[in-house]
Amino acid sequence: MTQGVATLDIERPLGRPGDALIDPFGRAISYLRVSVTDRCDFRCVYCMAENMTFLPKADLLSLEELDRLCSVFIDNGVRKLRLTGGEPLVRRGIMTLVASLARHLAAGALDELTITTNGSQLAKYAGELATHGVKRINVSLDTLDPDKFRAITRWGELDKVLAGIDAALAAGLRVKINAVALKGVNEDELGDLTAWAHGRGMDLTIIEVMPLGDIGAGRLEQYLPLSLVRARLTERYTLDEIDYRTGGPARYVQVKETGGRLGFITPLTHNFCESCNRVRVTCTGTLYMCLGQEDAADLRGPLRLSPSNDALETAIAEAISRKPKGHDFIIDRRHQRPALARHMNVTGG
Ligand code: SAM
Repeated sequence: MTQGVATLDIERPLGRPGDALIDPFGRAISYLRVSVTDRCDFRCVYCMAENMTFLPKADLLSLEELDRLCSVFIDNGVRKLRLTGGEPLVRRGIMTLVASLARHLAAGALDELTITTNGSQLAKYAGELATHGVKRINVSLDTLDPDKFRAITRWGELDKVLAGIDAALAAGLRVKINAVALKGVNEDELGDLTAWAHGRGMDLTIIEVMPLGDIGAGRLEQYLPLSLVRARLTERYTLDEIDYRTGGPARYVQVKETGGRLGFITPLTHNFCESCNRVRVTCTGTLYMCLGQEDAADLRGPLRLSPSNDALETAIAEAISRKPKGHDFIIDRRHQRPALARHMNVTGG
């Protein structure tokens, strides 16, 4: 399934510009996740190696190009847009992009504009995000223990993130906490994290670690199947199945004792691809039709080819026409190499 980055072939008759984005399996692509930078102020052990080489700035799409690209997807049926990274809030001028994209919310062309952030810059930006129409955000936080937090993020400060979450809640943003389940690191804390998040009116989603990118350590040491996490949580909580969905891959339960929602994202133990409505664009304008496959399409070329969006729309439609059915990640003793060479900060979480 390794096809690498495909370049635009305008001669090919596949996909017509202006078509709604429907993939070969009849799934409508209504959710776009855009990585606005590969840089991050943290170095989470499961996400990046400590010494990462980042892309030269010249390779990145400008804020204007990102705006144009997102707008073309919105014109073609995307209703939900998530800015991610790297850390989206370290991209210089990011609020200019958010402010500009907010026009699609105002026009009713977009249902939701949101971000995934590590929270380090939230104290600074939460108010502005709310002003521009962002209603919900995801904050990644794997532990409430300052030492563990430092060990996981290598460079992060827990206090700053907690202050950022406070600022987001004070600004009226709904906050969902995302925690990656890490064997021997936070596995004993996930019950407390649930109580803490729910006590503050925040949903919590627990994520299985995915084999993306060489991180300089074996995945098997990190990997904790959520079936185990869930079984342990049921010793403390009553988990009631609910239908709640946010358009993402999480499956939710309601925790009877806290009244809060708890999501599970299980790319390994349960493949969740059948209802996939998402595609991802990197900060260099590469479109990945699946987080777990190599196949990709270059959108920067067509974007820069001409001020008209025709070539870009053709490239997007052609790429969607080959969106794969799903991914298959495996982590076991025989599969400790990354399933894909690219790190999560490249594709965007
Ligand atoms: N910097 C932002 C943040 O921390 O949320 C956005 C980008 S980050 C790559 C997005 C999410 O991906 C975070 O929740 C992070 O924990 C998660 N993540 C990174 N690498 C992962 C991996 N290998 N498996 C599972 N989740 C991963």
